[in-house]
Amino acid sequence: MVQTLELSQKVVEFLKGTKKLFINGQWVESVSGKTFETKNPATGEVITNVYESQEADIDRAVKAAREAFDNGPWSKISGSDRSRLIYKLADLMEENLEELAQLETLDNGKPINESKFFDVPTAIEHFRYYAGWSTKIVGQTIPVNGNFFTYTRHEPVGVVGQIIPWNFPLLMAAWKLGAALATGCTVVLKPAEQTPLSALYLAKLMQEAGFPDGVVNIVPGFGPTAGEPLVRHEMVNKVAFTGSTVVGKQIMRLASDSLKRVTLELGGKSPNIILPDADLTKAIPGSLMGIMFNQGQVCTAGSRLFVQKKAYDNVVADLVSYSKSIKQGPGLDTNTQMGPLVTEKQQNRVMSYIEKGRQEGAEMLTGGRNPFDSGYFVEPTIFSAVQDNMTIAREEIFGPVLVAMPFDDLDEVIKRANNTTYGLAAAVWTENVRNAHYVASKLQAGTVWVNSYNAVDAAAPFGGFKQSGIGREMGSYALDAYTEVKSVFVNMD
Ligand code: ADP
Repeated sequence: MVQTLELSQKVVEFLKGTKKLFINGQWVESVSGKTFETKNPATGEVITNVYESQEADIDRAVKAAREAFDNGPWSKISGSDRSRLIYKLADLMEENLEELAQLETLDNGKPINESKFFDVPTAIEHFRYYAGWSTKIVGQTIPVNGNFFTYTRHEPVGVVGQIIPWNFPLLMAAWKLGAALATGCTVVLKPAEQTPLSALYLAKLMQEAGFPDGVVNIVPGFGPTAGEPLVRHEMVNKVAFTGSTVVGKQIMRLASDSLKRVTLELGGKSPNIILPDADLTKAIPGSLMGIMFNQGQVCTAGSRLFVQKKAYDNVVADLVSYSKSIKQGPGLDTNTQMGPLVTEKQQNRVMSYIEKGRQEGAEMLTGGRNPFDSGYFVEPTIFSAVQDNMTIAREEIFGPVLVAMPFDDLDEVIKRANNTTYGLAAAVWTENVRNAHYVASKLQAGTVWVNSYNAVDAAAPFGGFKQSGIGREMGSYALDAYTEVKSVFVNMD
């Protein structure tokens, strides 16, 4: 039975009319007057229209952020006042948790229970974590040769351009904004064109919390016409990007003209290894969640599963039967465990990878189609008889497609796991403590999970080795990306 949630009155009100850009504390139309549609992936229907930022709008937003940073109240505000504002925002998010969750599910398609119990609470937690850091950003006093008093100042890097993807729209905004606001930067944030709504609602809450004008500007728009001008803009000091590796490389090239600071959080093809001594009652459901969570649209998705030969057939058979029991449906149905993919384009992309897998000779054990007549759904799909060099074993699919492969021994599987251009995440399932730490030390990845998958925490750094990115978000590590260190030498003679 479909149990479709009724939209909250506040959400209904919010969706009325064309959504405006948030620049310098004001809601404004785009300079060109252009708008774009944002669609519900469960039905393909238009949710609402949004004004489209282009170069002129980006310019306005960056100038507002510059002014707020250089001359506005933000330039004089204390760490404890920044902290209070961020806490206030988190409290308002909590009061609006239902609304944020509904918007997230409407726009992205993910199950409402995930929006409500993962995305929004994790975003709130993230802001609270960084609210704490606002008052703890300190330098060093350094004994040096000669009669000098020498110390360092950790100063905010300035105006930050932030570009985020559509898979966790609110959470990615929180990951980007938390460290920037804690350190005293100002921000121009471009949400993904597929999912602009929760970031705009967040802007409304920031306004209510009392952030000074221009501190955070939200400019929905497309990559080449809004993202690129933001990366190129001469008044932007730093760019933080989460998205595909292809676009990440373009951004790094563009940013190099003015040598902007860049952090990139990019794609992955993460290995997930089940050793012979694993507790399979945990490893099997954990591995399935590792790939199917968020419809597989997760940069850390455990898309390459390695299982020791002796256990391989049993593990794969169980994965197939579990995956058949996953309840797919519209995100707003409270019974749904897996929603649609974000767009028709993404659905087609995933379907074409599935087709490629079959053409290259892999065996599709389950899935491979849209179980409904409409919406951008793809069934949980599992491939066996996969070779390491097949396209589906090498390229990021960003969908609910698992590639399973047997292995013989530990050093072989470590070598194969690392044989990728990516290095975002990896996991190992084992009850043997030596194996756990040995494998964790050998895997080339920014995060390694032992007997779990997709655990993240605001306090723990996150980012990629190799072509999965540059720099770290979260934890104290993210503060480095948003600060410049200045050495001050005072001559005491
Ligand atoms: P996907 O292909 O999954 O949509 P992208 O890497 O293209 O992932 O998109 C992630 C974010 O990067 C989105 O906000 C998108 O608008 C933006 N983007 C895409 N292309 C560019 C570009 N050339 N310059 C700046 N931003 C871009």
